Amino acid sequence: MLKKEIVIKNNKDLNSFYKKLKFYKYLFFVKFETNNNEIQDIISALNIKNRNKRINYIYDYACKYIDNYWNGKNYCGFKNNKCYCQQYKGCKYTNGCCRLCIYQSNKGCKTSNLTCKFYYCTEVHKRYKVLNYDDIKILKIFSFRQKTIIRHSYFNSREGILFDLKYSLISIFAIKLIIRNIIRIIILNKRKRKKLNKK
Ligand code: SF4
Ligand code: SF4
Repeated sequence: MLKKEIVIKNNKDLNSFYKKLKFYKYLFFVKFETNNNEIQDIISALNIKNRNKRINYIYDYACKYIDNYWNGKNYCGFKNNKCYCQQYKGCKYTNGCCRLCIYQSNKGCKTSNLTCKFYYCTEVHKRYKVLNYDDIKILKIFSFRQKTIIRHSYFNSREGILFDLKYSLISIFAIKLIIRNIIRIIILNKRKRKKLNKK
């Protein structure tokens, strides 16, 4: 395998590296090395030559990055199972925006959804500096199609999002999104009826 060392001496080099990622990600016969710690994780991703394993790595890396950023912080302000919004509006509902999702459980989210990890409503924005897509540099490896999927995959499982990132065209993704939301609403309504019947 050929070797390529990425030498970063200043911001100009760094920006140039990010721009070249579109090209580097297709160099399946090149092993990358670098002198720069900041891009070490991107280099590790580029050195995974199996496409599906690389997508898994980037996805899990981004989820972990966001989880570490918020580690120990109750950024949605949950108190008695009600988030800032629900306290502020005096809602009778609990569990924040996750109450609308089939992956919500008593112990929290049952999956690892990168899209949801980027969602913060105005109540959170008012109180914290939140992370944006561009803050996680490793995501620059993803294509426009994959970035679009990540921006619109609320209420889906990790495995579902990874499948779309690997195989779904935007048009198929859009159709799946509509179908998934219809199924989600049907399931939630069924659960609601079941709960009411038990009372
Ligand atoms: S993002 Fe906003 S609405 Fe959603 S759980 Fe957090 S505070 Fe509540
Ligand atoms: S997938 Fe998203 S909306 Fe659903 S429970 Fe997890 S974080 Fe909440």
